[in-house]
Amino acid sequence: MPTRFYGGKIYLGEGRFVDKAYVSDEGEIIKERTFYDSDDGNEVNLNGSLVLPAFRDGHAHPLFAGREGKGLDISGCINQEEVLKAISSYQQVNPETIWIDGAVFDRSMPASFTRQVLDSAVETVPVVLHGDDHHTLWVNTKALEVAGIISAGRLSNDTAGIDVDEEGIPTGILREWPAMRLVMDRAPEESLESDVANLIYADRKLAASGIIECYDAWIDRGMAETYIAAAERGLLELDYKLCFRADPDTFFEDLPYIQKMRAEVNQRPSLDGNAIKFFVDGVFGSATALVEEPYLSTGSKGEPVWNEIDLREAIKTANNEAFQIHVHAIGDAGTALAISILEDLPKGSLKFRPVLIHAELTKKDLLTRMKAIDAIACVQPYWAQHNGMLDSCLHHLGEERLSKLYAFKDMLDLGVSVAFSSDWPVSSYEPLKGLSVAVNRRETAAQELHNPSQSITVEQAISAYTAGVQAMRARTKERFFELGSDFDAVVLDKDIFTLPATEIANARVTATYKAGRRIF
Ligand SMILES: [Zn+2]
Repeated sequence: MPTRFYGGKIYLGEGRFVDKAYVSDEGEIIKERTFYDSDDGNEVNLNGSLVLPAFRDGHAHPLFAGREGKGLDISGCINQEEVLKAISSYQQVNPETIWIDGAVFDRSMPASFTRQVLDSAVETVPVVLHGDDHHTLWVNTKALEVAGIISAGRLSNDTAGIDVDEEGIPTGILREWPAMRLVMDRAPEESLESDVANLIYADRKLAASGIIECYDAWIDRGMAETYIAAAERGLLELDYKLCFRADPDTFFEDLPYIQKMRAEVNQRPSLDGNAIKFFVDGVFGSATALVEEPYLSTGSKGEPVWNEIDLREAIKTANNEAFQIHVHAIGDAGTALAISILEDLPKGSLKFRPVLIHAELTKKDLLTRMKAIDAIACVQPYWAQHNGMLDSCLHHLGEERLSKLYAFKDMLDLGVSVAFSSDWPVSSYEPLKGLSVAVNRRETAAQELHNPSQSITVEQAISAYTAGVQAMRARTKERFFELGSDFDAVVLDKDIFTLPATEIANARVTATYKAGRRIF
């Protein structure tokens, strides 16, 4: 039976509001007349709440977040002693554990990030701790041995990204995936059942924060299978768009598998497998993102993930196969390279708009080129603040470049389509926190403002977290709750349009609706 929502403030976009909405049994917005013509009807009193279009996350890692959420949590540790205490008590409580995986450590906390420090707490089983950038691992000696990185106290694998001391002996810090995977590939495998549980854990968190659709931006073998199993059993509340990760070493061998999984994924109405994700560069915190001007710390210009000829070929192939191209590009040179590859794709050959993920350091000429190729900038608003993550980049980038990061206003002013996302578990999945930072350019009053000239309005931020993400796949108007559209809504206990901007993050999600069905 249809439902009448009343007594609230429903945001239609473009500064317009109504106080009632009528929703059919199928979850679509209907006319008032249709509601009253029906024999029966539900009533939902919104009690003065604000109703926004439901949020969508353009780039996150729900399955990784689920795995992490169920493992050892070290995110609250403020120094080395607390980390050591956490891992030894974890081992005491779980004496049968054969592998300790903890997340995430604050890379700016006072600590000596060496394997020996971790050995002092646990040396019998591998200890693998994930850094808050998710591009760094801090591991003990056992983990390095199991991975074949160290043997008899010597470096035994010279993959890039393995930190060594003056004597050339691995320190216990691994940077970027090629080095990290040497250890991660040895981790005990998650069973399908435990991974389905991990995914459901993430799904419920997202639903509770007002999100109804999420891109999973890192799908390796085995992961799409988890989504399919969960969808098959009707266990997922959200819709998911899966982005298969293109591995520079095995992409062309993996492609038939990716094609096969896409077909299987696309058979499930709540899933979509039409994207491939390419990494052009690394991150600023490890001085691995590609930059035009060398890093002050290392003197290098970053580390490309692919050789350029292979990358061009791989992106061309993915485009020919009608996959959406998602490119992780963080530095200005990385973003320029991604754009130049996309510019070279034959005009009109793209089935989907290309997506540039992160685009953290963008001068105006890059944005103009982004606009010209109709690319979406999929950015993380929560990062535009002076926190440990930003400050860890200072000695690499220097004050001037650091102060220019996250130019969201320039993007919008130059007509670039902006989609917001969390990159969870790299940072909080909660859109209200991201919205607040996008507007305020800080999270707490104690922080210095970060690049405040790039602050955007509440309406622009809402749009980037809703229509902006929809625009990754379809042309959308920034108007919501129109006749015939799905009632996709998030209900907030406070009106973030009238609240002082600094209090946006204090608003709470009280309900989430997807096509009229309450999922939280
Ligand atoms: Zn990511």
